Amino acid sequence: MITKRVAEVNARRHLLRYHRSPDPMRRGRRDRLVAVGLSAVLAGLTAACGSAPDTPVPAASAIASSPSPPPGPPNIILILADDLGYGDLGSYGAPLIRTPNLDRLAAEGVRMTDFRVPSALCTPSRGALLTGLYPPRTGLVGNLPSGSPTEGISDGIDDDEITVAQALEDRGYGTAMVGKWHLGSTLAHLPTFHGFASYFGISNGDQTFLLLRGTTPVKDPPGLDQITKAYTREAVTIIRDADHDRPFFLYLAHRSPHVPLEPSPEFLGRSAGGLYGDVVEELDWSVGEVMKAVRDRGSSERSTLVLFMSDNGPWLSQGEGAGSPGPFRSGKNSPYEGGVRVPAIAWWPGRYPAGRTLGEPVMSLDVFPTLVAMAGGRLSPTLTYYGADLTPLLSGQVSRLPGAGTDGSRELLGYYFGDAVSLRSGRWKFLRPGYWDLVDTLYDLEADPAERTDLYPTRADVAVPLSARLAVLADEIAFNGKKPKKGGGPD
Ligand code: MG
Repeated sequence: MITKRVAEVNARRHLLRYHRSPDPMRRGRRDRLVAVGLSAVLAGLTAACGSAPDTPVPAASAIASSPSPPPGPPNIILILADDLGYGDLGSYGAPLIRTPNLDRLAAEGVRMTDFRVPSALCTPSRGALLTGLYPPRTGLVGNLPSGSPTEGISDGIDDDEITVAQALEDRGYGTAMVGKWHLGSTLAHLPTFHGFASYFGISNGDQTFLLLRGTTPVKDPPGLDQITKAYTREAVTIIRDADHDRPFFLYLAHRSPHVPLEPSPEFLGRSAGGLYGDVVEELDWSVGEVMKAVRDRGSSERSTLVLFMSDNGPWLSQGEGAGSPGPFRSGKNSPYEGGVRVPAIAWWPGRYPAGRTLGEPVMSLDVFPTLVAMAGGRLSPTLTYYGADLTPLLSGQVSRLPGAGTDGSRELLGYYFGDAVSLRSGRWKFLRPGYWDLVDTLYDLEADPAERTDLYPTRADVAVPLSARLAVLADEIAFNGKKPKKGGGPD
């Protein structure tokens, strides 16, 4: 719960930690979270305008007709699903699973159809989301092992990383996290040491005896079938009780619909989509409860931005326990689109046009600069962020983001355990060899989103330069990268 008392305790903890830190860079980095303004980026994006991707940007009159939100930085709620596939929501084409609350979120907000994660696994995806950095820069390249804070599992997110929670906290936000962390289980790696004033959750997902409040194990924790409800109650309480005199950031990282599938009795057997559908429908219920709490706060003093997304595609080897990648190829742990392209919705009434479908390629690395800019912060000049502030795109001011890629598009990398294996550039996706294929391949995602036809043999004129460019970017990102953290399991 975000209260002034907790915030004060957290502030003291931070002061203590900085005082103790032997690494002056640690203290310096936070101080240096102040130099490169995003105004130049914003100006560049505003100047760039191309053809509309999926649906046209609503006319200015349509945008203007929405009520203007109150000024000042908004509350921010980031909801992350675990292993939810692109095709698992009604608004993304699921034929059997009912998701009315998420569909409403999409109808009132922006539904993104080319939202990408840089790695199709939990830990590297979450590390990138929260730090805004590609996996080699943090060393969070594979899944960290499960364990309790006292089991001596030593690896996790480094103390010198700047999470989005820390960046927002520096801008005066109250911060809280609920749910699955998966960035380290020892004390120093837990969320309360990385910018979150409060934490309630199971660090690595599903071992309920490891349920923590802050850093303390919860006595008599609920069964796994009650975890979604417990997380939801906690999130609703945080939203309801959050201070009104400053904005809050809530990161709600559900463990569902990751296996094991254990819906609460009220949802068991309810979905036409089977047991997996039951779990997704309970997740949708949770989103509905969160949105009720948001609406109950009223809109007089401060607006709220809600972002919903998945960490990676469906875990197809789980058979009926897995979701659907929709029209895309493969799933979790794969560099194909089914692994890295996930459902993502941005909801901010009055700022983002309602009912818009956005096909421009964006990625989870964009979340960090977007939220920092929204809070009036600046990115550290000592770190290279490859993400962009999405505000002009989501608000409808522009329909494309400029970059150095094909036809002036952005270049978006995909990683597999620390190795850069794919480069998205305009309509093209170049893919290096791996367990998925023994040779370099090239796909035209506009003509062939399912990645069925390898065009490398006939379009070497495109593929060879992309291969060279991928190597340059990979070296650039790996330069001064961190040693990979121990781990590497598939879940
Ligand atoms: Mg996952």
